[in-house]
Amino acid sequence: MKRREFFETVGLAAVGTSVLAGLPSISLGNTKLKTGKGMKLTYEVKRINLKHTWTISRNSSDYKDNVFVYLEKDGIMGVGEAGPNIRYDETPESTVATIEKAIPLFANADPLEYVQLGYDIKELVPGQTAAKAAIDIALMDWVGKALNVPLYRLWGLDPNKSPYTSFTIGIDTIEVVKQKTLEAAPYKILKVKVGKEGDEELIKAVRSVTDKPIRVDANEGWTDKEVAIKKIEWLVKNGVEFIEQPLPAKMMEETRWLRDRVEIPIIADEAVKTASDIPKLAEAYDGINIKIMKAGGLQEALRMIWLAKSMNMKIMIGCMIESSVGCSAAAQLCSLIDYADLDGNLLISDDPFKGTDVVDGKIILNDRPGHGAIVR
Ligand code: MG
Repeated sequence: MKRREFFETVGLAAVGTSVLAGLPSISLGNTKLKTGKGMKLTYEVKRINLKHTWTISRNSSDYKDNVFVYLEKDGIMGVGEAGPNIRYDETPESTVATIEKAIPLFANADPLEYVQLGYDIKELVPGQTAAKAAIDIALMDWVGKALNVPLYRLWGLDPNKSPYTSFTIGIDTIEVVKQKTLEAAPYKILKVKVGKEGDEELIKAVRSVTDKPIRVDANEGWTDKEVAIKKIEWLVKNGVEFIEQPLPAKMMEETRWLRDRVEIPIIADEAVKTASDIPKLAEAYDGINIKIMKAGGLQEALRMIWLAKSMNMKIMIGCMIESSVGCSAAAQLCSLIDYADLDGNLLISDDPFKGTDVVDGKIILNDRPGHGAIVR
């Protein structure tokens, strides 16, 4: 008997009587799960306030106007968030305009075909990745809820392998930096923003009150490679683990020069947005900082992780100033990464949502379906 005929005539029947008969509760799954087409997309702009004025090398702010996306179908609501960033030509207005362009796309969409939908969202307009991220987060949240699984389960990831997150100390006066460092007592790793005048004094202020590991982010604040190398050599002596975006993103040659001369890893942040940026960065950087807002969604972030891993690059996941929706979505990917910097929701005073917890600095994923963030 041919192999195919054997399975057709004997295989299924034999399994049904001799094996499955002894397992009354076994599930054969539901391959017919269908939802049909059409989703309702709505959005709202919400102001989230920061605990401390947030200063990095580029700018200062006391609040952020983030845009929340809601995708609804069959009584299930997926929730997403955009944290628009002016560094990438994004404002709440441009974010809303992009989200409105997606409404017709969802009027005839089957959310379970989320991979193709993800590519369709990517093609909506050039850039505007925060808006696209909000839509993709809401879509994946809906899918997780419809299948009743957390997203880390959908992607086959171990929730217990999440790393410790760093807690970020923004640029401030020496006294406030000391105060912020003391307030960060529960966190095991600190990330210190530099790139303006007085970098060394800021690090000394942090070091005067703690000996925790420090990571440093210059946010493109140094514009001369000779200045950058002196700063980094000094930082190495002060126990700094790595340096994020020391030079402007466009200074690739100078960054390559720097990388050949310093001991600690150089991580790209502003230089990397999506997967297509990664191959050229491998020659100048040791790793990449993936943010869902820059990537344009969780699906692109996952593609970035696979690509960066294949190139032996270190992987960090960061965030903008975001509520627990954005941070919990990013945290779903945590077991795949080397460094986590998911403190956006910890820096705000009025998070409208609760999701992933941080306990003694460790990211703790919950078992709610989707990204696991719910209204507070
Ligand atoms: Mg950064």
